Amino acid sequence: MVEPKIYKETVERLKALGFPFELPLDVTHYIGGEFVRGENFFPVVYPATGEVIGTAPEGREKEVEMAVQAAHEAFQKWGKMPPSQRRPYLRRFAEKIREYKPVFEVLESLDVGRPIHENRLGYVDRMANNIEFFADFAVTHGSEAYPMENGYINYVLRFPVGVAALITPWNMPSMLATWKIGPTLAFGNTAVLKPAEFTPLGAWLLARCAHEAGLPPGVFNVVHGFGPNSAGELLTKHPLVRLVSFTGETTTGKVIMKNAADTLKRLSMELGGKAPNLIFESADLERAVEVTLRASFFNQGEVCLAGSRLLVQRSIYEAFLDKLVAAAKALKVGDPLDPETRMGALIAEEHLQKVMSYVEIARETATILTGGKRPELPHPFDKGYFLEPTVVVDVKPSDKVCQEEIFGPMVVVMPFDTEEEAIALANNTPYGLNAIVQTRDVGQAVRVSEALEVGTVWVNDWFVRDLRVPFGGAKQSGIGREGGHYGYEFYYETKNVCIANR
Ligand code: NAD
Repeated sequence: MVEPKIYKETVERLKALGFPFELPLDVTHYIGGEFVRGENFFPVVYPATGEVIGTAPEGREKEVEMAVQAAHEAFQKWGKMPPSQRRPYLRRFAEKIREYKPVFEVLESLDVGRPIHENRLGYVDRMANNIEFFADFAVTHGSEAYPMENGYINYVLRFPVGVAALITPWNMPSMLATWKIGPTLAFGNTAVLKPAEFTPLGAWLLARCAHEAGLPPGVFNVVHGFGPNSAGELLTKHPLVRLVSFTGETTTGKVIMKNAADTLKRLSMELGGKAPNLIFESADLERAVEVTLRASFFNQGEVCLAGSRLLVQRSIYEAFLDKLVAAAKALKVGDPLDPETRMGALIAEEHLQKVMSYVEIARETATILTGGKRPELPHPFDKGYFLEPTVVVDVKPSDKVCQEEIFGPMVVVMPFDTEEEAIALANNTPYGLNAIVQTRDVGQAVRVSEALEVGTVWVNDWFVRDLRVPFGGAKQSGIGREGGHYGYEFYYETKNVCIANR
């Protein structure tokens, strides 16, 4: 039995925002078109206050089996529809997401602890676009023909793979869920979404959107629960699941690959990162600070793409750091639902402790220029999992804090002298998700981008996403790419048919 613990301040705040649900929230599974109450409830905790604001059920064998069977059954019809028939369903799904925009904006803050300000920067529109874009893409991209000189007719058919398990992390839960739901369903597969245990709320509302949009039962299912020995692991081993699209930690990705090997599932792995943010002396300093501030502390630094290793050319090192530290100190940390707040709470007490363990390492082996402590906040935020924006210098490239993904509001800074040195430092981790290059020298931007061992490079900006381009990581940051026709390749099976002309 999970006891809710709810402060009147939170209830009042939610009422003032027009939040339509009563606390405590009763999160359900969504299986075969029905909201299933489930059993084995676990708490839904608001990271900003530590309150238990609801409960969610843990899916085990029974729920996973029901969901996979429902998805398998639905696939028999959904998978055979032409994309143009699936499109209206998906467009309605996207419309519903837009209709619930103000609710998603609040819910995502309750789930993650992120400032509502960030949810209002196009986050929910992007969720809807993730579905619409692929619904349209599936209609406009079809089979290809390759006529042969000897008269043979050679063509490639594309068809859906089957039931997909979509396993998502807690840091951008609703955005990442729709990033997977869009192509999965548009290309004719059916889905079982297993959201992260820390953030069940967004998936619960997504299920409601799918339901109200009239998606055929079983096409989209949500099973809540944990990873190992729970819903996540069961999905990755289920013989009827043909495809696993996973976003999460590199170590989890490796376990999933092993578990999925026996049934040889198709896998997409979007994993961890430790992105370098290279700031060259020709960069526009003001802009470089603004981009760096976002890349370091957006979503409390809990972003796979966070520019968590700052490499700064020595000639501007002091000037850049002075400005960055001043800007970091000025960030308003606290109540996520206050539109003025610029940094919220970390996801959970245990995650805060993990990030603090890196702070302690830095305290012993390096210098903390700013941050490194829990901010003093009034009730009820004094119980939240907050940490001040933290900037660390005097580190060595081989230090743990420079090599491991911290996934919090803590960045390390290293000076460099030459472009070659910067590139070598940038490539010096097992990760290769993305990088940021800040320079006004176009030739340098081109050279450095080419030399970086990553899946995405942003020059003079961060986190600009166009759904047509590939997204994914090099090295231990992932396998495969999603987005545009790259995702098309992953979510579709191909078949070559070769016809003789006699
Ligand atoms: P996580 O790996 O702990 O969990 C991710 C999901 O996997 C959760 O739903 C979890 O329940 C499930 N899971 C855990 N063990 C499992 C198992 N054995 N079998 C099946 N499912 C299992 O990751 P997290 O802590 O939720 O998220 C943070 C991580 O995600 C960071 O490493 C971050 O870099 C990464 N991330 C990557 C991207 C990207 O696009 N590359 C985007 C966002 C987050």
